[in-house]
Amino acid sequence: MTQVRTRFAPSPTGYLHVGGARTALFNWLFARHYGGEFVLRVEDTDAARNTDEAVQAIFDGLRWLELDWDAGPGKDDGRGPYFQSQRTDLYERQLDLLMKADRAYVDDGGAVRFRVPDEPVTVSDKICGSRTVNLKEEGSTCYDPETRQNVAVNPDFVIRRADGSFLFHFVNVVDDIAMAITHVIRGGDHLANTPKHVALFEALGSPIPEFAHIPLILNKNGSKMSKRDEGASMDTYIRDGFLPSAVRNYLSLLGWSPKDDREKMPIEDIIALFDYDHLNHANAKFDMEKCQWLNSQYLADLDAGAFVKLARDWMASTGEQGWLQENSATVDAALRVMRPKIKHLPEIRDHWPRFFVDDGIDLEAAAKVAADPSAKLQLDVVLRHLAIVEHWNEDAITEALDAAAEELGIKKGKFMFGLRVLATGAAQGTDLLPTLAVVGSERMLHRLGRRLAEIFP
Ligand code: GLU
Repeated sequence: MTQVRTRFAPSPTGYLHVGGARTALFNWLFARHYGGEFVLRVEDTDAARNTDEAVQAIFDGLRWLELDWDAGPGKDDGRGPYFQSQRTDLYERQLDLLMKADRAYVDDGGAVRFRVPDEPVTVSDKICGSRTVNLKEEGSTCYDPETRQNVAVNPDFVIRRADGSFLFHFVNVVDDIAMAITHVIRGGDHLANTPKHVALFEALGSPIPEFAHIPLILNKNGSKMSKRDEGASMDTYIRDGFLPSAVRNYLSLLGWSPKDDREKMPIEDIIALFDYDHLNHANAKFDMEKCQWLNSQYLADLDAGAFVKLARDWMASTGEQGWLQENSATVDAALRVMRPKIKHLPEIRDHWPRFFVDDGIDLEAAAKVAADPSAKLQLDVVLRHLAIVEHWNEDAITEALDAAAEELGIKKGKFMFGLRVLATGAAQGTDLLPTLAVVGSERMLHRLGRRLAEIFP
């Protein structure tokens, strides 16, 4: 068998969409499964719509997902350059060949058209099946919304505009040939273009690659996923501190399945099972909750040190100032205490103030404490015992609370809620003892006193 070569061929017109990332991933997985090569080609022929930022977003997204390309920008294997904007010479030469063979001609308007074949073209797609199309007949009418009638059009499609710029179908096929692409795996929205591509491959005297058009990604409610939908842009995942391995795992499930009940799978296992037989025919439904759930599973696998590092990197990436001003050992200790509660890194924002903000109380929580007539006296005693703790750590704090309970003749549980509200300003949160310990005695005692006075003025 010849060397498998797949490619991801994005047009850099905006940001990297999850659909694009999924296409890239599937091509990468397919190439890795067969020990082949994965090519990245930037389809930037539309100068008016392409931007450098969009190209950067593609590189960033692929690198973040750890989808390394074997050939592409920055990695020329002799078949580059891998930007279409730099390949015009080749397109000119291939166009000449078509003209000489009378497969292309200049029309009245100065554009170059491809002479579609007389005989029908068959597209055999590994996912969508086989379809035979007569381009001459199908392309010979088009619906005109103004007159509400089908009008005759020239079925020979334009491959080069009168201004000299080349069109997608032509450059896409010329490059797939020149880059020795053996398998074209792309979004189902390109299926309708494929008969044109097959006709071009034939006219250029090339074997036809295998096509696999993967099902579209829809929203949970079945509507088409658009730019504005949550999770549509890869930036979101990077910005919100998702783990690349978790997102890669999630994206792999959008149109592929191991055909057992597994969802969380190491990439090696996905590669091992990634073939046509495991690709789905039905459209995939995007589910942010599931993606977050999978991410939480990957987070839970990290040991404490790795979690702290990840959280710190994410915090630094947000550029939020307050986070960087606290003592770093205290922040690390706080992150360790937060860890069992964090399913998603941005939840650090909810827990942060409970460790590092000294004033303010959740009103409902404060009212609950104030409603208990014996709370004030109990908390006074608790604070008095905490104030004399010598070595502020969990064990010593526990002893002080035991002593307070004994003096009051009640169970500790009676005052723990009140203590939590004073210590953190909230009714719920991380385990209380380690939280008290991490904040440190001076800061904590000051805070407890202040909030007690606020609740019982
Ligand atoms: N540039 C096209 C796109 O972004 C590529 C289509 C293809 O993969 O052939 O949709």
